Amino acid sequence: MDYNLQIDEGVLLQSIKVKRMGGSDSLDELILTNLNIIYIDRGRYTKNVKKVLYFPVEDIKRIDGKAQVALGQNGRNSSLQLQIYFNNGVESFEFSKKAKKEIKKWIKTINSIIDNMEIEEESKAIPGVKVVTETIRDTFGVIANTLTKNKKLLTSKCTGCNAILTGYKKEVVRCKYCDTKNIIK
Ligand SMILES: [Zn+2]
Repeated sequence: MDYNLQIDEGVLLQSIKVKRMGGSDSLDELILTNLNIIYIDRGRYTKNVKKVLYFPVEDIKRIDGKAQVALGQNGRNSSLQLQIYFNNGVESFEFSKKAKKEIKKWIKTINSIIDNMEIEEESKAIPGVKVVTETIRDTFGVIANTLTKNKKLLTSKCTGCNAILTGYKKEVVRCKYCDTKNIIK
C-alpha cells in the first residue's frame, strides 16, 4: 500500500485518473476514508508515487451543519470538478471517468460523514447518551432516530376531569385542575 491508514480509518471511496487543480497530471488517485481525503500523486510517466497528501474531513467548512462540497466547472475547459471548501482553502479535483456520477457520489458520501460527525458531537453534549462509534459509522442516521424515538411527548386525558395532559410514556403526571394522578399512555 502507498498510504497509511489509522486504526479506526476505513476506505469509503476510491477513484483513479483524478487530477488535482494547480499541481498534478490526470493519472492520480483520490481516496475517501471516514477521516481523510487522501490524494496520491503518481506523476506523469511513472507508476511510482511522487507524494501523498492528506486532507482531514473535519477541516471541511460547514454552514448550518452542511458540508461545503460542490459539483463545479473548470472555467477554462468546462470540465466537471469536485470542489471542496476547507477552512484554509479550496481544493478542486477533475475526474476523467464518469465525472458527474463520480462527483455526486463523493458529495453524498462526504455529507454522510459530516452528518455523522455532527450527530456524534451533539450526542456528546447530551448527558447519559452513550455513543457506540463503530455502530454509527456503519449505519449513518441510526442514532438520530433512537434519540427522538425514546423521548416522544404524548397527550392523554385526565381520568378525573378530562383535561388534556402531556408527558412521556408511562410518566406519572398530576392534573393541575383536579389533582388526580394519571399515567401517560
Ligand atoms: Zn383532572
